Amino acid sequence: MLSRRAQALKPSPTLAINAKEKLLRAQGLDIAGFGAGEPDFDTPEHIKQAAIDAVNKGFTKYTPVAGIEPLKDAIIEKFKNDNGLTFKREEVIVSCGGKHGLYNLFQALFQEGDEVIILTPYWVSYPPMVELAGAKPVIVDTREEDDYQVTGDLIRKYITSKTKGIVLNYPSNPVGSVYTVENLVQIGRLAVDHNLYIISDEMYEKIVYDGYQHTSIASIDSAFRERTIISNGVSKAYSMTGWRIGYTVGQKEIIAAMSNIQSQSTSNPTSISQYAALAALTGPQDFISMMVGEFQKRRDFLVRELTSIPGVTCYNPRGAFYVFPNFNALLGKRFNERTIDSTAALTELLLEEFHTAVVPGAEFGKEGYLRLSFATSMDVIKKGAERIQKAVASLA
Ligand SMILES: *Cc1c(COP(=O)(O)O)cnc(C)c1O
Repeated sequence: MLSRRAQALKPSPTLAINAKEKLLRAQGLDIAGFGAGEPDFDTPEHIKQAAIDAVNKGFTKYTPVAGIEPLKDAIIEKFKNDNGLTFKREEVIVSCGGKHGLYNLFQALFQEGDEVIILTPYWVSYPPMVELAGAKPVIVDTREEDDYQVTGDLIRKYITSKTKGIVLNYPSNPVGSVYTVENLVQIGRLAVDHNLYIISDEMYEKIVYDGYQHTSIASIDSAFRERTIISNGVSKAYSMTGWRIGYTVGQKEIIAAMSNIQSQSTSNPTSISQYAALAALTGPQDFISMMVGEFQKRRDFLVRELTSIPGVTCYNPRGAFYVFPNFNALLGKRFNERTIDSTAALTELLLEEFHTAVVPGAEFGKEGYLRLSFATSMDVIKKGAERIQKAVASLA
């Protein structure tokens, strides 16, 4: 008999769609895939070379659990330069990806009886991670009409004596939304007043458009900084998803607890990847602007094509590499014998009849929407957008 914990856990929903997509591809079908959760660029050459050098120099053994000192120092430099924040080595931990850092953090902070506020549309892993720690996710809806902003008033209603933390993600996956500094101030004040931890997932900090400048909530006020734990990593900014390096900064007691958890599970993140991440953070940064420039062209095209469909609206993402168009106006229509009454049904129709793979919004706590990643070639984006337009035109 499996543990209750394991029985209650669903696999990552995006993986199920990927499996079906793979099956259709294996049958020789040409699928336009918008499911990718990672940049489609190769990891830059100098980063790969740093990994090869690490192997040749024999850096192939255990490292300190929380990461090698040069990498911690590079992370400290990053926060100083990008965010105006200073951290000591004992306030930094390197983990096996941003996801692993967040998992360990939730294990370190939350337990039975705790409530954790999560905003829709959310990254799929936050609610299960909160539940795996024994705590209860409290879902707060944010709206397209409000540019997905959160105000103090919106969140205040959901705070109880059990609320222990709030999870922020900006620029966000799946919508690419960011919070105004005024609203971050409101959230920070609320956290101070109610003694909440702020978990700030800033994984897409460097993937931003139209000259937008990222502001970490921790950098706004020292009282916010004290209760904020920042999660970031090299996966998205340097196209290093497979290397599995993420990092977390915050109060040293929390970092020490995360390190204990890590020491009893994975131990250190891969030594070779740590040297590659060191090269990523300290080497030339021009790769990022090249990638972001390409993403911006694709975003502009895809948003234009989607919003040209009658009834479809779409937030113009300020960051990350996803669009989250609103298909609510089309739900309830029919395609032959099928009623398209949910975005899950729409997703199925798009995949089976129009060979286009997207992710239904319900997976992110927001029914009526679809998530499309533009971390794929312009050719695929053009083909896919045309197919979606054709699919919608064929609904009655
Ligand atoms: C991709 C992603 C992460 C974690 O990425 P890793 O591959 O584990 O480093 C964390 N948060 C968000 C919102 C993401 O999209």
